[in-house]
Amino acid sequence: MSIVSASDILNKATKGGYAVGAFNITSIMQMQAVIEAAAGLKAPVIIQTSESPAKMIGPEVIAAAYRELASRAGIPVVLHLDHSTDVDFCKRCIDAGYTNIMIDASSHPYDDNVRITKEVVDYAREKGGVTVEGELGTVSGVEDQVIVAENDSVLCDPDLGISFSKATGIDLLAPAIGTAHGVYKTENPKIDVARMRAIRTKADEAGMELPLVIHGGTGLSEGIVKRLIAAGGSKYNVSTELKYAWIDGAAAFTAQKPLVYNPNKLMQSQMDASAAVVIKWIKILGSEGKGGSNA
Ligand SMILES: [Zn+2]
Repeated sequence: MSIVSASDILNKATKGGYAVGAFNITSIMQMQAVIEAAAGLKAPVIIQTSESPAKMIGPEVIAAAYRELASRAGIPVVLHLDHSTDVDFCKRCIDAGYTNIMIDASSHPYDDNVRITKEVVDYAREKGGVTVEGELGTVSGVEDQVIVAENDSVLCDPDLGISFSKATGIDLLAPAIGTAHGVYKTENPKIDVARMRAIRTKADEAGMELPLVIHGGTGLSEGIVKRLIAAGGSKYNVSTELKYAWIDGAAAFTAQKPLVYNPNKLMQSQMDASAAVVIKWIKILGSEGKGGSNA
């Protein structure tokens, strides 16, 4: 069990009261660092690419590297496309071998969001073995976090979240609950934990597995994260922190060893910095040991 879809591991996480780390990578070497770090902790893991690195490297190249690295990792590994707004690109990633796709049509009016999201779900079903994440509400950038968090109209209405999931057939729901992408500008960003719990309860009552996704994971306090998991979140996205690790890892190396022109050593420093982020989050999320063969 190495190449899996997100539903395979997230339904188990929801029931087990932990979350699986979903880590955005920007290079093949960083993918290797994330998978190896997770394997060291016997934790299931989700590798994510946003559209920009996926388009730069090519989804076929990413998926080929994923298949090779995941098949020898000894833990379940998902390859996920994060926040794609491009239906054709979602289909290309499905064809290439991604096992989970996020179609983010949340900026469209509700009916259009349903129609666009459903088109990707239908394609994934045809292909088989691929699950789909949809978003309802607005997960903002940190610049707008406070405004968004205090404006109910852009957060995910629990009843509408369930209707949206039924109408589209999505496997995972990313509900807007006040989290944001980037580095939070306030120490205690306003996160609507009760809303997450309400959505989880309604999904359970409707008999839907529907794992819930926590976006904007970089910089949330451990206390908030644990409350969000207890409220029913089971996929935890970390992107910005891994970008910082990749760049800071290189900067630290060149500052300490300015005359060492050895790319392998430079990349090892970047990989070590990335692995440290992954290990920190897996321990907080409670997924350590949940991806072993007996887990
Ligand atoms: Zn996100």
